[in-house]
Amino acid sequence: MSLVSIEKPLGEYLEIVLARSKDEEIRSRRTASGGAITTLLIYMLENNLVDGVVVAKKIRGLQAELVIARNREEVLEAAGNRWSVLPYTARFREALQDESLKRIAIVGLPCQAQFLWQMRSFPLLETDVVSKIYMVISLFCLGTFATEAFVDLLKLKYGLDPEKIVSVGLEKNYIKVIYGEEEKKIPLQEILPYVQTGCLVCPDYTGIFSDISAGLSENYPGYTVLIIRDEKAQKLVKKASEKGYLEIIKAKTDVIEEIETKARGKIVRAMRYMSILL
Ligand code: SF4
Repeated sequence: MSLVSIEKPLGEYLEIVLARSKDEEIRSRRTASGGAITTLLIYMLENNLVDGVVVAKKIRGLQAELVIARNREEVLEAAGNRWSVLPYTARFREALQDESLKRIAIVGLPCQAQFLWQMRSFPLLETDVVSKIYMVISLFCLGTFATEAFVDLLKLKYGLDPEKIVSVGLEKNYIKVIYGEEEKKIPLQEILPYVQTGCLVCPDYTGIFSDISAGLSENYPGYTVLIIRDEKAQKLVKKASEKGYLEIIKAKTDVIEEIETKARGKIVRAMRYMSILL
């Protein structure tokens, strides 16, 4: 496994595709991304490849919790953007120790994918719990916020009640906040000071330690970019497409260049902050 670098900012991968759900219900709920990850999770559950998926579920406002979803309805309930790093250990341990769960898929952030990769590669426990992990899906990540300070910004400067925020999403150079029926745009520069310190030195945008990385392309709204990193993930995506769950098209150079540019930007940011700290 090579580390992320300026020359190879997306790490190792087999192919990059654009994917969207063929299920109209999922597409209508997840219009920005096309719902490819939600669909892949449902495909794995309905075809007995896994018996549970660990995902973040919004509770209210910007608060979320990790849940173990075991069927289509539970996956659909959890679908959406999360903007805080959630502690993995408690719910994760629960999933690994639950004897009714033989194999699980996990959706997380690049830092969490790295943690899981380390657990798989250098198991510290005698029990072989990590063999339960069938698939690790990492979401693209530029950083998460120091939640309280970010919530204060939304309240004081923009007059938003965090409890009423429906979703928060990254667009070109601003954050789009869906607030009830309204849409607010907050310039990216304005929220950078609220990014967690650890995120400022994190160089991995896509999650190079995952089986599949997933995120958005500005030029292809309604699709999810999937970076497929190993043969197991490649087979999964191919089968989900053949069985009518997913629609797949090969990503063109412009998509790859866009993702590489963002990934390089994050590496440069990490190098800059590391040089300040060291
Ligand atoms: S920027 Fe890095 S450390 Fe911060 S949440 Fe994203 S992956 Fe984790």
